[in-house]
Amino acid sequence: MLRENYDRFVALLRIHHDIAAALRLLEWDQETYMPAGAIESRARQIGTLAEILHQHQTAPRFLGLMDELSDRIGELSDEEAVDVRETKWRIDRQRALPSDFVRRRSSLHARARAVWVEARKADDFGLLAPFLDEIFRVERELAKIIDAQRPPYDVLLDAYEPGATTAEISDLFVTLGQGLAPLIERVRICAESPGGHMVTALRGNFPVDIQRRLNREVAACLGFDFTRGRLDEAAHPFSTDIGADIRITTRYDEADLSYALYSTIHETGHALYEQGLLPEALGLPRGTSCSLGVHESQSRFWENLIGRSEAFWSYLLPVARNHFPALEDVSLRDVLSAVNEARPSLIRTESDEITYNLHIILRFELERDLIDDRLRVADLPAAWSDGMQRNLGIRPPNDREGVLQDVHWACGALGYFPTYSLGNLYAAQLMEAIEQSVGPCGALVERGDFRPLLDWLRHHIHRQGQRYRAPELVRRATGKKVTAVPLLSHLERRVSWLETRE
Ligand code: ZN
Repeated sequence: MLRENYDRFVALLRIHHDIAAALRLLEWDQETYMPAGAIESRARQIGTLAEILHQHQTAPRFLGLMDELSDRIGELSDEEAVDVRETKWRIDRQRALPSDFVRRRSSLHARARAVWVEARKADDFGLLAPFLDEIFRVERELAKIIDAQRPPYDVLLDAYEPGATTAEISDLFVTLGQGLAPLIERVRICAESPGGHMVTALRGNFPVDIQRRLNREVAACLGFDFTRGRLDEAAHPFSTDIGADIRITTRYDEADLSYALYSTIHETGHALYEQGLLPEALGLPRGTSCSLGVHESQSRFWENLIGRSEAFWSYLLPVARNHFPALEDVSLRDVLSAVNEARPSLIRTESDEITYNLHIILRFELERDLIDDRLRVADLPAAWSDGMQRNLGIRPPNDREGVLQDVHWACGALGYFPTYSLGNLYAAQLMEAIEQSVGPCGALVERGDFRPLLDWLRHHIHRQGQRYRAPELVRRATGKKVTAVPLLSHLERRVSWLETRE
């Protein structure tokens, strides 16, 4: 009976997964090829499928099976127990929320998002402020409904990084921030030195159709399986899964070769994770990615740790010259200088590998204090500017380039920002563990032999699915608790390189 119930439960989870995949295909199409005139009917189709998915996920038969299996979880195998435990955890969070609360919350986010666009355009924080006030109030309420015993920000974090806590992230980020402070000083000095002129190495005229071939070649070489995926174009690059079919997008700039290249490498990192999940557990927690932070660790691993290294460009520059002979005039040192250029700047999404995490630390501290009622929304713009001054030594001249630059808060995504830096921290710690197990990566990467690195990630991260929560997954993979040490050492090496490149 238990066995049959588990099989029925799995069959239902796979139906949910199929509907969700169909939804994502419609969304992917909307971002890539859909003609503009189809938007209304597409919105309807997406709404209809979302409704059907919700009905399936809240059907008494499914919930009954899940609760019954959960009561007897000790009698299931370890793998089966993961499927039941993680599904129940996710569904319990959802079903704790009254449906009128859910409706009120999504309509608030939809309105706030539209107001954010206006507020940013008009550089008027006052337009958005009342909505943010309401959003932070509603998120406090949500945390209380789900679990009144835990700190509210911990409960919100669970939506993106289950298993992470405010206290642990605060500690990690304090250490990271302290370690970054002297590096930022050194970066500032480098940015003012004459070496800065090399940023033009990958600028020029790079026809898009040739760039498309180069980007495909790079993604394939890193391990992207084109028989189970596609590379297309979108205004905001993203990756998504349509079941076993993983789709990534990039965006080309004819005047700048690095623009699409780093988007492609980043999204390829996400895709390699999805393509590495256990195929036999597709649609089950065992065959699902662990968390946003772990996902981001995979994209940042390939984009930054590999993609900005000297070994990588020793491999890539000859490949790129095959497509663009004009690159014969560009040296390896010039390219490295261009892709590792760093300086304190105002906009998070345009910032470099070294200063990036300070943008995240600021957002984390502000949203944590807002949720804990230690900071008022009205005081947010000033707190933002002061934080930028403290962390990066620069002050935004207006709110558009300050507190209004990101959409996350207007979407109610509180607890999302830290996952970006957690991804960087995990990636550096994974890299260190890989080098200890496989040996120095440089020689492999120089030859374009990425397989041993990918195999290690497959085994220690991808194949684990949701067996462990992120901090435990990284601890098991690397033999150490997550710390800021590997990332700080890596960034220190980058800064030292910038200092000696002359
Ligand atoms: Zn990403």
